[in-house]
Parts: sequence; C-alpha cells; structure tokens
Amino acid sequence: MGHRIILLGPPGAGKGTQAKVIAGKLGIPHISTGDMLRSAVARGTEVGKKAQSYMNAGLLVPDEVVLGVVRERLTQPDAAAGFLFDGFPRTVEQADALGVILEQGGRHLDNVINIDVPEEDLVLRISGRRMCKCGASYHVKYSPPKIAGICDACGGELYQRADDTEATVRERLAVYKKETKPLIDYYSRKGLVRTVDGGVGIDQVTAAIMAALE
Ligand code: ADP
Ligand code: ADP
Ligand code: ZN
Repeated sequence: MGHRIILLGPPGAGKGTQAKVIAGKLGIPHISTGDMLRSAVARGTEVGKKAQSYMNAGLLVPDEVVLGVVRERLTQPDAAAGFLFDGFPRTVEQADALGVILEQGGRHLDNVINIDVPEEDLVLRISGRRMCKCGASYHVKYSPPKIAGICDACGGELYQRADDTEATVRERLAVYKKETKPLIDYYSRKGLVRTVDGGVGIDQVTAAIMAALE
C-alpha cells in the first residue's frame, strides 16, 4: 500500500524530528521543503537566491518557487510509492496545487497528521534547536548530543539556524496562524486529518503518529 502523508504543525512542533523516524519506518522519502530551500541557499542556486531573504525574515517563500521545487522532487522515482511531506503545503494555494499534481498522476493523499503543541513550548523548542550539516538535529535540553556542540552521527560542529532567533520565531508563528493553520480545516473537510498530541516526549509522539496511520 502506498503512503502519501503530510505532517502539519507550527514551527517547532517536531515535524522534522518525527518525519525522519516515520519515513524511515515506512520506507518512503522524507520531503522537507525547508531542508531543500536551505540547501539551495547554501549552494547559491537560483532558487536559493529567490528564497533567502524571505527565509531570514521568517516569511513564506513565494508559492511558485516552492511549487517548482516540489514538482521536481515528486518526479523522482523514490516518490512514486509514497512520501512524507514536512513543511509543505503551507498555504491553501500550495494545497490546491498539490491536489492537482497528485490527481494528474492518478494519486491521492492518504493521511494528514496534525502535530499539536502548546504555543509556549514552541519558542523553547526552537530557541534550543541545533543543527548539523549532515541533516541531524538536536535540542540543547530535550534531545542533546553526547558532547555539547558536536554531532553524534558525524562529529560535525552544531550550529543554530539563521531564522531560529526569538524575533523571527514570533513572525513565523504569526505566518503559521494566518497562512498554514487554515489547512487543518481544509484537510478535515476531506476527512484526512488525525491530530496527535505533540507536547509529550519524542518517542511517545512517534508512537501516536504510527497509531494514527494505522
Ligand atoms: P520549521 O521547521 O521551523 O517550521 P521549515 O524548515 O519548514 O521551518 O521552514 C523554514 C523556512 O523555509 C520558512 O520560514 C519559510 O521561509 C521557508 N519554507 C519552507 N517550506 C515552505 C513552504 N512550503 N512554503 C513557503 N515557504 C517555505
Ligand atoms: P519542526 O520541524 O516542526 O520545526 P523540529 O523537529 O525541528 O520541529 O523540532 C524543534 C526542536 O524541538 C528541535 O530542537 C527538536 O530536537 C525538539 N523536539 C522535537 N520534538 C520534541 C518533543 N516531543 N519534545 C521536546 N523537544 C522536541
Ligand atoms: Zn552530523
């Protein structure tokens, strides 16, 4: 059976953390538009040049840029049997466009998992987030590496995302409420949404998502 899944939730909800584990368990690609855009910025591509200023300001990258990236990604063979989107779609326009892309390929979404976390926890999670170039991510308190500042997986030096500052986080939360939260209703009307409590430990959230997918 195919798994075509969207993880919805505010910035800091744990989408990336959960997406890595769930996609691994199900054997489907984890498609994070945030990771793809950050990689484009780091490589200095055309997409990266278009995206950078929006990302640093905590604003959404224009739909046409993001949709170009997603369309290309979905044509890759590993996405044929399923995928797990993390951070996409983020606007009703993106959700409509995804619907059209899938329909054209005779495909449909199977699940939308909404990760619910109290707002006051989000800022704490994001301000403690630390990343590694290899793709691993940590939290200084909730998911610390064995040696502070060093990646367990590759020994690389951990860094903080340019947009993980308190001011930018407030902006991203405001954008989430205005542009992305309406997608909970959008997909609820299609009967696709399961909400899980994301305010508990990482492993408990994983178990809740796996149960919701059954
Ligand atoms: P978070 O995990 O904190 O929610 P992401 O890594 O998903 O953040 O996204 C970081 C930034 O990348 C966003 O603030 C936005 O500028 C841009 N971005 C990522 N995905 C999208 C998208 N689907 N549409 C528009 N902008 C996006
Ligand atoms: P998102 O992709 O939704 O922005 P992340 O998966 O990057 O969120 O998680 C944000 C931060 O919170 C990271 O530092 C991560 O280690 C931490 N985190 C994720 N899930 C939990 C959890 N259930 N409890 C505590 N901290 C968490
Ligand atoms: Zn690493």
